Amino acid sequence: MEKKPFLTLEQAREIMQDIPTPFHIYDEKAIREKARAVNKAFSWNKGFKEYFAVKATPNPYLMQILHEEGCGMDCSSYTELLLCEACGITGSDIMFSSNVTPVEDMQKAYQLGAYINLDDVTHVPFIEKVCGVPETICCRFNPGGLFSMGNQIMDNPGDSKYGMTEDQMVEAYKKLMADGAKEFGIHAFLASNTVTNGYYPELAGILFRLAVRLHEKTGAHIKFINLSGGIGVDYRPDQPANDIMAIGEGVRQQFEAILTPAGMGDVAIFTELGRYMLAPHGALVATCIHQKHIYKEYVGLDACAANLMRPAMYGAYHHITVLGKENEMCDHVYDVTGGLCENNDKFAVNRVLPKIDIGDVIYIHDTGAHGFSMGYNYNGKLRSAEVLLCEDGSHKLIRRAETPADYFATFDFSPFWEKLK
Ligand SMILES: *Cc1c(COP(=O)(O)O)cnc(C)c1O
Repeated sequence: MEKKPFLTLEQAREIMQDIPTPFHIYDEKAIREKARAVNKAFSWNKGFKEYFAVKATPNPYLMQILHEEGCGMDCSSYTELLLCEACGITGSDIMFSSNVTPVEDMQKAYQLGAYINLDDVTHVPFIEKVCGVPETICCRFNPGGLFSMGNQIMDNPGDSKYGMTEDQMVEAYKKLMADGAKEFGIHAFLASNTVTNGYYPELAGILFRLAVRLHEKTGAHIKFINLSGGIGVDYRPDQPANDIMAIGEGVRQQFEAILTPAGMGDVAIFTELGRYMLAPHGALVATCIHQKHIYKEYVGLDACAANLMRPAMYGAYHHITVLGKENEMCDHVYDVTGGLCENNDKFAVNRVLPKIDIGDVIYIHDTGAHGFSMGYNYNGKLRSAEVLLCEDGSHKLIRRAETPADYFATFDFSPFWEKLK
């Protein structure tokens, strides 16, 4: 599908009058529409809730928008829990899916009344010791082996650190019941960034059958099944987009085929989507500040991999539009780079684009999840601002850019000043 920016050059220039590039910008209208589409696709399930994966885009303004649309939040750390608390999101609106969990993180999740998802059978005595067992508790499943669909290998759970085996799930449920747990959840995350409508239904089939077995073996009441994240986005123009209505319908069919006949038609479906919720609704806006011609053509931006790590880290594709040149011929081939002293700091390699001039505004697509949040300070680079494009077309700064003072804030300079006296 053709990839279109949600921002025009004119709008970008207006924002740049008070917020210089680089910045990440998010499209409020599209975010609300996305949340409504996900809720609609699963509206057949009475207890359905999407718990947005906070790690994808930990910004309280965006979390608030999603919460207004009926979403809860999925956290994995103490600070993410604090963010929820600050937004007034507590209790069963939080799913806590952590691993290698520190004591204070577990205690904070318990204190907030979150649904806690235990990553391992050894976390049963751990939670007993550090806070106690809540009435509703979830366990994370890992089926091992390879996860394939048809003849396509999707991912390798047998090689992943998360979750527990089926026997351990049984053991954990029994222990938790003895400790007073009354209602149970099942969680699994088996493949990331899938672009097939079949992933969730396939996963749902596996988890629904597991739920029936767990209920038979332990008598536990299964309250919810959390399909977690993994619905991907079409980063490339030639990729198909996922169809959330088809995905919801595929999960419904598995539900009717497996859970309803087992007398488990009251199970709530949860999701923990991050990428699918926000990736397409954010963009990194940067300015071309240099160009060079050596053995290849390079255009250099005022943004770098510290603002968007995915291309450097995974070789990930992010589509690029030169704002204002949407209809010009793509007759140049560029490497689009940032200024880190690392040769993998390239947003694009051998990308066919229109002729780029210094001062052009570059729009990097699909940075709304795992974009800003994976930022870092290598080379003394500072994290950018985050901007919200509001529904009425105005814009709002929802996180200022870092300054050198932020970068230095964790040093104590006093011993150095002492020497100067
Ligand atoms: C990262 C993560 C998610 C979100 O994954 P996406 O690919 O962004 O949908 C959901 N649940 C857990 C436990 C995660 O670690």
